[in-house]
Order: sequence, then structure tokens, then C-alpha cells
Amino acid sequence: MNPAKAQQPPGAASAHDAQNQAPPLVGYNLYLTDPALLDAVRRHAPWAEPQIASLGKLLGSEEAQRWGFDANENEPVLHTHDRFGNRIDEVSFHPAWHHLMRTSVENRIHSLPWAQPRPGAHVARAALEMLSAQNELGHICPISMTFSAVAALRADPDLAAEWEPRILSAKYDPRFLPAAEKSGALIGMGMTEKQGGSDVRANTTRAERIGNSRDYLITGHKWFCSAPMCDAFLILAQAPKGLSCFLLPRWTPDGARNAFHIQRLKRKMGNRSNASSEVEFAGAWARLAGEEGRGVQTIIEMVHHTRLDCAIAAAALMRQALVQALHHARHRKAFGKLLIDQPLMRNVLADLALESKGATLTMLRLAHSFDARAASASERAFARIATAISKYWLCKRACMHVGEALECLGGNGYVEESVMPRLYREAPLYSIWEGSGNVICLDVLRAIAREPDSVEAILEELKRSAGANRHLDAFTASAESTVRAAAQQAGQGDAAAERSARRLTEQLALALQAGLLLRHASAAEADAFIASRLADRSGYTFGTLPHAADTAAILAAAWSGS
Ligand SMILES: Cc1cc2nc3c(=O)[nH]c(=O)nc-3n(C[C@H](O)[C@H](O)[C@H](O)COP(=O)(O)OP(=O)(O)OC[C@H]3O[C@@H](n4cnc5c(N)ncnc54)[C@H](O)[C@@H]3O)c2cc1C
Repeated sequence: MNPAKAQQPPGAASAHDAQNQAPPLVGYNLYLTDPALLDAVRRHAPWAEPQIASLGKLLGSEEAQRWGFDANENEPVLHTHDRFGNRIDEVSFHPAWHHLMRTSVENRIHSLPWAQPRPGAHVARAALEMLSAQNELGHICPISMTFSAVAALRADPDLAAEWEPRILSAKYDPRFLPAAEKSGALIGMGMTEKQGGSDVRANTTRAERIGNSRDYLITGHKWFCSAPMCDAFLILAQAPKGLSCFLLPRWTPDGARNAFHIQRLKRKMGNRSNASSEVEFAGAWARLAGEEGRGVQTIIEMVHHTRLDCAIAAAALMRQALVQALHHARHRKAFGKLLIDQPLMRNVLADLALESKGATLTMLRLAHSFDARAASASERAFARIATAISKYWLCKRACMHVGEALECLGGNGYVEESVMPRLYREAPLYSIWEGSGNVICLDVLRAIAREPDSVEAILEELKRSAGANRHLDAFTASAESTVRAAAQQAGQGDAAAERSARRLTEQLALALQAGLLLRHASAAEADAFIASRLADRSGYTFGTLPHAADTAAILAAAWSGS
């Protein structure tokens, strides 16, 4: 017994007692307590449910949560040279990083739809990633790049035949060895250079062909190259016929370390478990992927899939932030009442819950279109435009959402031992990665101007909920005329279209989310979402739901944990 306590009169509180604090949020199942995720998995991929539920349980455990903290508190370390002065260019990680990576690889978050191409595989993978990303997002970077790389590698059957079996392995092998000697391989991506990231045509890295082969020597740099311990990278470089895509492994085919020199690791605002490096290629060996001069067309499928993953990551950030806020509010009292029972806090939490559910439903609808697009032209066209819309909107909303959820914990939310600062620092990254906000909105515009099928596909989707809510009907009609006008303006090269691209994307995102809530959430949730975001757009912060919003029903549908 605490000796200080023994001296107190019975019933007196010690100065050291922690009263009115929420218990740690451990021992809950991230999947089984998420009604929107559960419902979507049962609809699209019931076969995957036992695996998803099992991962949800593991990630709610104290041990798995500790991995996330340890991997971020013990950042990766770069070793450029060995003790004899030889270049080694290796990065070492804390064991917690390897636990996270192993768990995600064994669950095939890096490969599921390619390794098990069955109906609902993308939805199942999205659900798995949604869980894993809630626990720790840094390690999702190489997991996501590896998953996405397969889509681009398939443009080159020979490369795919060599690398796919390694990538599809469910064994995590962190040893730094030639890929052929390992039981599993991971893939990264190198596009961004100092002088330009969004505009990859400005890349200066050069590729010189070796004889008449598909092999090249690469000279130049990449300003951002995350997860440099991946086994190979899809990179862009200028070849004689123009910008081309290459697969550049860490080891050459004759078993030597490739001339892939890690200059330094970035000191980042967040995402600290993950190593993001600056690299130089000093005549590094690489093999052409796809056709020379068509690098962007080759790598774009990888980019498309990583954008899906940015949307999943943003939904995960909002979900975890919401759950933490709800948990706190259910245990913390102020002014004689639990926070969850204070009317204004209920408004804030319900508003956060609506945003999170809208995000979850959006990313799951998007993942479904990746499943359906092989067999359906309209789903293919929908996936094309909805990826950009969802990536933009969910990533933007995550920043605001996590900031507000953090405040629900008061000062405790600002302290590192809560997961909130980590979520907050992570949030802006997904908006920057794989096309920053403006670039993504310009991509929406490009789709509208050049791919009429994508316009019809998104409008068709919005009209699926026609007649269910008059505000949504009016909003959809307005979105349709905005889209049609933008298509015309963009086709004529009118700058007005670019200037309005964010507004247009936002409108489409909100209409998409409202329709999804009408179909897959309760009337209380859909009504409040539409009333606050489509009918009355005057509440600029969370916690501004109109008086009529049924906060009790919204909160009851948010989280079935305790
Ligand atoms: C932690 C981290 C890890 C990363 N890892 C990788 C990696 O592994 N591989 C990789 O290749 N890259 C990586 N990146 C780079 C990232 O993808 C780029 O930073 C991003 O694409 C933006 O490019 P940029 O930084 O050159 O910005 P810029 O291209 O200079 O853009 C700056 C701003 O201008 C806006 N902008 C650009 N063009 C226009 C336009 N025409 N109209 C209006 N606005 C415009 C952009 O939206 C952005 O807001 C990483 C970045 C970070 C932060």
C-alpha cells in the first residue's frame, strides 16, 4: 500500500491520486466497434471478416499500441558508411517498427487484391489498412507504396514476372540482401526532385541506356525518397525519348550494392517512425519499366493507388481521433456532469462523428470501385474522378477534424502520451503526398475536361439518392451545373475553371458523402450532415450542428466501445 495513503483519514484524497481521468483506451476491437466499417465489410467482403476482426483485436491491445509509440519515439538512424569508410547506405529501425511492418505484411495490406483477387478484395484491404493506420501511420508508407507499385509493374510483363512473386509474399523480410535471396520484397517510389515535385516533367535525373538492353544507368537525385530500405524503387528519369519510369533495386543483378546513396534523412514534423530520405544516384543500375518516354503513363497507376491510400489514411486519422475524444468524454466530468452529457460537447462530438462516418463511407465506396472497375466501365470512370475528389476532401478535413478532436481531451490531448499529437502531426501529410491539394483539384478538372465518362459516372452516383432529401436534390442540381460549366471552361482553357477547382471538388465531395450517408447510415446522421453541410453552410467549426440535429442518435451510431 502507498505509505502516504496509510496516513490519510479514510475517504480523503491523496495529492497523488489521479481522479476524474479517463482510463487508458486499451483492449477494444477497432473493427467490431466501428459500425460503418463492419457494415461495409459484411456487404462487400464477408469472407475477410475473421481476419479483419482479429487484426482489430490485436491493434486494440496495449502491446500493439506500444509499438506505435516506440517506433515514433525511437526514430530510424541512417548509417552512410561502415567503420572502414565504405558506403553502406543503410537505415536501422527500432524493433517496434519491425513488429508493425510484420503485422501489416502478414495481413497482406501490401498485396491483398493482387494476391487474392476475389470480389471485395480492395474493400477488405481498405478495412485492414484503416485499422492498421489508426494504430500507426508511418509504417503504412512502404506498405502502401508496395501495394501500389504492382499496378504500375503490370505495365511491364517481364518486370512483373520477376518482382510480383516477391512482392506478393506474406513474409516480412527486413534483411538488407539482394531481393532474389529474400522471402519477401517491398517497393518505394522516387519522383520528387529539388526543383519540382508536382511538375515531374522538370525532373533532371538522367538515364543512359546500356547497349541495346532495357538496362540503364541513372545519375541524379531525389529530394524525397521515403522508406529507403525498400528493395527497389519505381523512379522517373529523363531518357533519350523523354521522361521514363525505371525499377531501381538496392542491389544490382550481379549482387553488388547499387549506387543508391542516402544523403540524409529528413527531419519531419510527423511521420517520424518512417525514414524519408534524400538520395543521389551515382550511375545506379535500373531497368526500364514500360515504354521509354512514357514514364508518367507507367507510374500513374501507382499514383492512383497511393491516392486511394491517402483517402484511407485520412479516414483512419479521423476515426481514431473521434474514438479517443468519445472515450475521454465518456469518462471525464466537468461542472458536475460527464463531458459527453454537456449539450455543447455533444454537438462537437456528434459533428466529428458525422465527418468521420462520411469519410469512412467515402473511402469504402472508392475501394469498392477499385474492385468493380475491371468489370464495369462506369465504375472505372467513377474510380478515376472519385479518387481525386476523395483524396482531396478527406485529407483536408482530417487536419481540422483531428485538431478539434484533440481539444475534446483538453490539455491531455496536447500531451505526447496521448496519441493525439501524433495524429495531429500526421494529418497534413496526406494532403501533401501524391498530389497536394491544388494539384489534385486540377486533376479533378482535367478529368472533367478530358474524360466525359468520369463526369457522367460521378453525376450518376450522385443521382442514386435522388428524391430522398430535397436539400440534397437542390445541391446535386447545382453541382451538376457547376461541373458542366467547368467542363466547358476548362475545355476552352479559361483560367476561371482553375480558380474555382477547389470549390467544385468540395461540392462534389459533399454531395457524394451526403448520398452515401443517406444509403448507409441512419436518418438522423444523414439529415444532420445534409442540414449542416449542404443546406446551411454557415457553421465553420465543428460543433455547429443545427438545433434539430439528433445528437443522441448520431453518438449512439458512432462507436460501440465503452
Ligand atoms: C514526409 C514526406 C515524404 C515524401 N516521400 C516521397 C517519396 O517517397 N517519393 C516521392 O517521390 N515524393 C515524396 N514526397 C514528396 C511529395 O510527394 C511532394 O512534396 C509533393 O508532391 C509536392 O511537391 P513539391 O514539394 O515539389 O511542391 P511543389 O510542386 O513545389 O508545390 C508547392 C505547392 O504549390 C501547389 N501547386 C503546384 N502546382 C500548382 C498549380 N499549377 N496551380 C496551383 N497550385 C500549384 C501545390 O499544390 C503545393 O501546394 C514526400 C513528401 C513528404 C513531406
